[in-house]
Amino acid sequence: MQFRDLKHQYQVLKEDIDKAMSEVVADCNFISGKQVKDLEKSLADYVGVKHCVACANGTDALSLAMMVWRIGPGDAVFVPDFTFFSTGEIVAYAGAVPVFVDVDLDTYNISADSLERKIREIQEEGKLIPRAVIPVDLFGLPADYEKIQKIARQYNLRILEDGAQGFGGRIGDQMACSFGDISTTSFFPAKPLGCYGDGGAVFTDDDDTADLLRSVSVHGKGTMKYDNVRIGLNSRLDTLQAAVLSVKLKAFREYELDDVNKAAEKYTALLGDIVKTPVIPQGFYSSWAQYTIQLGSKEERDGLQARLKESGIPTMIYYPKPMHKQQAFEDQRFVDDDYRNTIQLCNTVLALPLHPYLTDTESEKVTGEIRNYLKEKR
Ligand SMILES: *Cc1c(COP(=O)(O)O)cnc(C)c1O
Repeated sequence: MQFRDLKHQYQVLKEDIDKAMSEVVADCNFISGKQVKDLEKSLADYVGVKHCVACANGTDALSLAMMVWRIGPGDAVFVPDFTFFSTGEIVAYAGAVPVFVDVDLDTYNISADSLERKIREIQEEGKLIPRAVIPVDLFGLPADYEKIQKIARQYNLRILEDGAQGFGGRIGDQMACSFGDISTTSFFPAKPLGCYGDGGAVFTDDDDTADLLRSVSVHGKGTMKYDNVRIGLNSRLDTLQAAVLSVKLKAFREYELDDVNKAAEKYTALLGDIVKTPVIPQGFYSSWAQYTIQLGSKEERDGLQARLKESGIPTMIYYPKPMHKQQAFEDQRFVDDDYRNTIQLCNTVLALPLHPYLTDTESEKVTGEIRNYLKEKR
């Protein structure tokens, strides 16, 4: 059994993907080909924002926002404690301080109450200027933007939506990657919409921000590549990746997103009575980057993972370590007491195999093994 079955997906889409890739190779338009422009337009339309700027990966996408907003030394940026390393890394890389915020035990996303408490702490300390918050749409579920937007307005913070895992999710009719002043996503192969290497994109409704993003992503270009008006990056999406993504986006829209939701619903129906299954709040829709359950303790989680491995069922622990405990951030002082939920989650979460091509037989095998193990142990 595969954790995320990219080989199966390729077999289904092979003809179209091979054709799209061959065209790029035949034309040799490897950098900034027409396919990139076309993809940016399709992505912007799908998400419902005015501008999409494709770039080299999801980490650069976040960094581009830091650069456009000139966030740097003396600035504080609020980041969930339970996320992939990039979300905090790019803040420190910009020279600013990532201030970690605890998350909600039901949704795994940034807690609005903890966010407000941390903003107040930073204000009272008076050393750093609160500039932005980076809510993450963790495991595919959009963060609680209604509450976050209210806090951001009150404290004059910009919102950078890290939609690396969130592409395809929504709240009501509003799509993920449209909730931030700037929003980003990643096309790393295992993300909800993945390419065949690294890739990413930045979204915004603001015309000036979009111009700046285009400039910063190509060496701070002015009127052209050899007129450089600011310091930037070399962060473009390869034409080959855009070609692959155009085929995959079609499948994603037509059936993959529906199918992965059906597979997730099946897990919840078969497991909801014995483990804590993901909570999708009313009106929210997830793109299911991960299906993550919570066990009763670290021992139970680790024991279950070992048993599933013996039965040929791959699982993952996203994430084993809170951001505030990462050695890379050890120059800052954080107290564990502020991050009780994140610490609990790191000890008890387990992500199960999930993708649009997961069969009922497979998910029944997974849930059957989980039920057997827990019945034995409890
Ligand atoms: C994957 C991921 C990123 C980084 O994306 P890359 O394309 O791997 O650079 C950033 N944030 C989150 C939450 C992610 O899951």
